[in-house]
Amino acid sequence: MKILITAGPTREFIDPVRFISNPATGQLGYLLAKKAKNLSYNVTLISGPTYLDYPEGVAVVPVLSALDMFNAVLKHFPSHDVLIMSAAVSDWKPQKISPEKLKKKFVWNLKLIPNPDILKKVIQIKKESQIVAGFALESSHILENGWKKLKEKNMDMIIANDVSYFGQGDKKSRIFIIFPDKTIENCTGFTKTRLSSIILDKIKTLYEQKQTKDG
Ligand code: C5P
Repeated sequence: MKILITAGPTREFIDPVRFISNPATGQLGYLLAKKAKNLSYNVTLISGPTYLDYPEGVAVVPVLSALDMFNAVLKHFPSHDVLIMSAAVSDWKPQKISPEKLKKKFVWNLKLIPNPDILKKVIQIKKESQIVAGFALESSHILENGWKKLKEKNMDMIIANDVSYFGQGDKKSRIFIIFPDKTIENCTGFTKTRLSSIILDKIKTLYEQKQTKDG
C-alpha cells in the first residue's frame, strides 16, 4: 500500500519575514508516517514547517505555503493508494506578498484571499480504488460539522476533533472518526499514538475491502 500523508501547518507570507500560520505541530501526521513505514507501507510525507525530525525511510516533500502543498499533493496523489490529509492548511493567504520587508505603520489593513481547497481538487481526480481521509477541527457541533465536511469533500473517513488542544502536542481532546455509512468511532481521550494506530487500522480495512471489490 502506498500512502501519501500531509502534516503540519502552512505559512502564508506577507513579506520576507512575516507570515500567517497556525499552531499545528505536525505530530499526528509524523506519527502516522512513522507507523505506516513500520507496517512496511510505502510512505510519502508532504510536510509544512515543523520542529520534528523526518521519520526514517519516509520520502519527505517539504513545503511552505498552501499553494506549495496543493501542487505537491496533486503531483503525488495519482501514484498513491491512500491520502491522509492531516495538514492544517491555511484557508487564506495575503493577496500580495511584498518582496521588501514592510516598514512599520500604525493601523493598516491586510487583504486576504482564499487558498485553493486541496481535497476539493483531489476528489475531481480520485480513482474509485483510492482512499482519502481528512480531518475536521471544530469549535462546536463536532459531529454535525465533521459529517458535512466528509460529504462535501467526498472522503472515505474523517477524523473530527475539537479545537481545545490544537497545537498543544499529545493532549487528549474529543475525537470521532466518521464514515460515509454514518458509523462513528468515538476516540475521545485517545493519545495521538493510539489514534494514529486506529486510523491506520481503519485504512487497512478500507483498502482490503476495495481490493476485494475491484478484484
Ligand atoms: O479547513 P477544513 O476544516 O475544511 O479542513 C478539512 C480537511 O480539508 C482537512 O483534512 C484539511 O487538511 C483539508 N483542507 C484542504 N485544503 C484546504 C483547507 C483544508 O485540503 N485549503
